[in-house]
Amino acid sequence: MGQISLLSVIVSVYNEEAVLDLFREKTLPVLEGLPCSWELIFVNDGSRDASPGILSRMALEDRRIKLIHFSRNYGHEAAMIAGIDYASGDAFVCMDADLQHPPDCIPDIVAALEEGYEVITMIRTGNKQAGILKNAASSLFYKILNRISDVRFDENASDFFAFSQAPAKVLREHFRESSRFLRAYIQDIGFRKTSIAYEANERAAGKSKYSLRRLFHFSVQAFVSYSDLPLKISLFCGTAAGLVCILMIAYSIYMKTVHGAPSGYSTLIVMICFLFAVLFFLLGIIGEYLSLIVREVRDRPVYLVRTTANLEGDASVDGKEGDNTQQCKE
Ligand code: UDP
Ligand code: MG
Repeated sequence: MGQISLLSVIVSVYNEEAVLDLFREKTLPVLEGLPCSWELIFVNDGSRDASPGILSRMALEDRRIKLIHFSRNYGHEAAMIAGIDYASGDAFVCMDADLQHPPDCIPDIVAALEEGYEVITMIRTGNKQAGILKNAASSLFYKILNRISDVRFDENASDFFAFSQAPAKVLREHFRESSRFLRAYIQDIGFRKTSIAYEANERAAGKSKYSLRRLFHFSVQAFVSYSDLPLKISLFCGTAAGLVCILMIAYSIYMKTVHGAPSGYSTLIVMICFLFAVLFFLLGIIGEYLSLIVREVRDRPVYLVRTTANLEGDASVDGKEGDNTQQCKE
């Protein structure tokens, strides 16, 4: 046995009844073949389908399958953070439940961790399912993010990554902002890092939980939490509008003195509309940052747990769900 004694595999689940049994069927043989012990932590992010029942059955059948049930849907990011908080391994893998992240990659991840790498980012070589629109939107998102922030993010990184004890401590104790972007933190926190390429499969069953609208909202949050540059656009716009104003004043005086004509009504309307549009856009940007500050100041929990199963500290660790209600943000 190498330096890893227990591997924690963290899987977030939101309405995944169609795929959970298949996920276990594909993943368990891979985990059984590992040179270390393992725990499989499913974080049920407030699913409203049959997922909680399926997960409870799995936990009853195998005590290495552990469950965290959220009190409601808190989102994928919160689910991953909760998994990290509760995991007791000395190495951690985060992955999706829909088999887009192939479990067959886990042995390579463990080998890299054994070699001494502390952060392993999994890089997609293709995303068969996302579709042209989602792929183009994702590419545009990373282009803008890389432009406006100081960190360079890999366009093909995903929520499939692994890390050792030290980065886990950092993620548990810091990086607990109200809007989190874990896959970016992983690329940003340093440590001994490597990446492994993988081919993203099609979602094995069920539907994607991320609509374009939800992705847009998520992107705005990422921009706001990773860059202050949008806030400074107002300075640029203010300066540009000032210069245009000076030109307009000079033009109006010229027209008035040389031609004696009042300046055009249409020009006025266009100018007013344009300047108000810019003004409201800038107010919108400031509003996004303000809303981020308000959420931070409120300091509400990142997630609330309703029950857990097979986890240390449970009222019951025999697969039945313990009443381990707990809030997890300092
Ligand atoms: N997920 C979650 N909470 C949510 C939405 C999604 O835990 O509010 C989980 C979902 O069950 C899956 C993973 O996050 O395991 C990725 O979601 P999905 O596959 O729908 O996203 P996509 O791969 O289409 O971007
Ligand atoms: Mg998916």
